[in-house]
Amino acid sequence: MTFSIHGLPVARGIAIGRAVLVASSRLDVAHYFIEPTQVVAELNRVRDGRDAVIAEIHRLQENIAHHSPKETPHELSALLEVHLMLLQDEELESGVRHWIKDRLYNAEWALTSQLEVISRQFDEMQDEYLRERKADLEQITERILRAMRGVSSPLVQPLRAGRKAAQQELLLDDTVDVPLILVAHDLSPADMLQFKQSVFAGFITDVGGKTSHTAIVARSLDIPAVVGARLASQLLRQDDWVIIDGDAGVVVVDPSPIILAEYGFRQRQAELARGRLTRLLHTPAVTLDGQHIELLANIEMPDDAAAAVQAGAMGVGLFRSEFLFMGRHGKLPNEDEQYLAYRRAVEGMQGLPVTIRTVDIGADKPLDESVRDLGHLNPALGLRAIRWSLTEPAMFLSQLRAMLRAAVHGPVQLLIPMLVHASEIRQTMALIDHARVQLDNRGVAYGPVKIGAMIEIPAAALTLPVFLKYFDFLSIGTNDLIQYTLAIDRADESVAHLYDPLHPAVLRLIANTLAQGKAQGKPVSVCGEMAGDVTLTKLLLGLGLRSFSMHPAQILAVKQEVLRSDAGKLEAWAQQILDDDEPARRLVAGI
Ligand code: PEP
Ligand code: MG
Repeated sequence: MTFSIHGLPVARGIAIGRAVLVASSRLDVAHYFIEPTQVVAELNRVRDGRDAVIAEIHRLQENIAHHSPKETPHELSALLEVHLMLLQDEELESGVRHWIKDRLYNAEWALTSQLEVISRQFDEMQDEYLRERKADLEQITERILRAMRGVSSPLVQPLRAGRKAAQQELLLDDTVDVPLILVAHDLSPADMLQFKQSVFAGFITDVGGKTSHTAIVARSLDIPAVVGARLASQLLRQDDWVIIDGDAGVVVVDPSPIILAEYGFRQRQAELARGRLTRLLHTPAVTLDGQHIELLANIEMPDDAAAAVQAGAMGVGLFRSEFLFMGRHGKLPNEDEQYLAYRRAVEGMQGLPVTIRTVDIGADKPLDESVRDLGHLNPALGLRAIRWSLTEPAMFLSQLRAMLRAAVHGPVQLLIPMLVHASEIRQTMALIDHARVQLDNRGVAYGPVKIGAMIEIPAAALTLPVFLKYFDFLSIGTNDLIQYTLAIDRADESVAHLYDPLHPAVLRLIANTLAQGKAQGKPVSVCGEMAGDVTLTKLLLGLGLRSFSMHPAQILAVKQEVLRSDAGKLEAWAQQILDDDEPARRLVAGI
């Protein structure tokens, strides 16, 4: 039966495929397709892993029988029996075989997919005792995965190249070429990032706001995604057909042939429209009245630089360096590792400037998912970004040294997030000087850098003179500026309808920052999601913005808007919007 689920649109486009349900805790399991010739080896890996766990349990049972039969609680013996039973369960085995043989999933992915299928059945059981066996199933799956870890997969093929021919030769199920849509309750930004080269054609999560970092990474992947879809992960079943309408934020489950045809048509139209935009690749971004507009890229990893250049970016306006720090299980990248990463980004940009932001860890970007900040009531208001860096001076200095060293290889700008106090500015500047002295003492080369501040807290936007005194440039982080101005958690879907880039207070803070930057001759850019939203391009131009930093995939669409705009004429119109009680209404009405 067809039904739809409404969430928040985060990454445009339409994806049609089968649902792959993944529990958030299983996301660190590798997901890739194997070659048909690897099927037997993968089946053997699961079998060997399972046999190893069975042998382990038998050993434990023998130990109990020989050494401490009396002291061992009856429950433990019974539990071991249950685990043995589950390990030999026919449904687990046949399911795993199906995922590997018919779908060409790697062994770990097959095992966790089947775990999802059986877990659902347990959830639906009336009998409480049986329902609780789900935890046992999870435990034995964990143990099999652990046992398999020792035996790595044969040569893997992360993408699908060359599969079709082999598939036909072996007469495999042709559903293997159907696009897959990942469905999860939640995805951390780091999880999302690991799907960069992934097999998934779209993402759906139950939670998350439009500018949560997970949504931002989804957008950077340029794959249709819907977040905040509430119960999606419970309503959908493994393998259900789904359509993601990433523009409207709608998920259609089990679509009828008519609906499928309609969305298929829209998908092709969108692809054609995108294809047409590529004609603008080499066109300079100049408005009708001759204003040159700087269109920059936001990146998460050094290798994203290539996509940025290809998309026609004139530089990187925001390199979110924290992605190098996430999911490292406490082992943070040292100075040399960071230096090489920043250098790769700088060289990848081929002489164009790269703005590297110092680490912005905290809030919805925990260092590790397992150490998510549960101890603080309001992590978004807590020890985040520069606040964290200043409490970890050794870590911060090694990052600063790495950035300064990377500046030998091309133009680099340093960007500092979440500043609000003059004392934080002074401490930061002192540490940058100190990093230079340390490099001098070591005799290590470093390059000149411009230093900028993010304006993303209202208090910063209201005390600009101190920022303009110390910094070479400013970058407005509208994602946080909106969150902190309106007191809306950007990652919380329950208040997402109140997260409003067009609130008069937000617009005034932006306009004021642009005006004061201009008056002092200091460049100001916007690197929050507003910069890549084509419905806001004209307004931002009218408010005086000349430098936009966004996901590379958005650059051409924004350029198209720039080419159609007369910045001078937009000024008066933008002023009217600024003076309106409800700018959104006026903007939509186009008056
Ligand atoms: C912002 O806050 O607008 C910004 C660009 O930084 P981030 O989204 O990483 O917080
Ligand atoms: Mg921010």
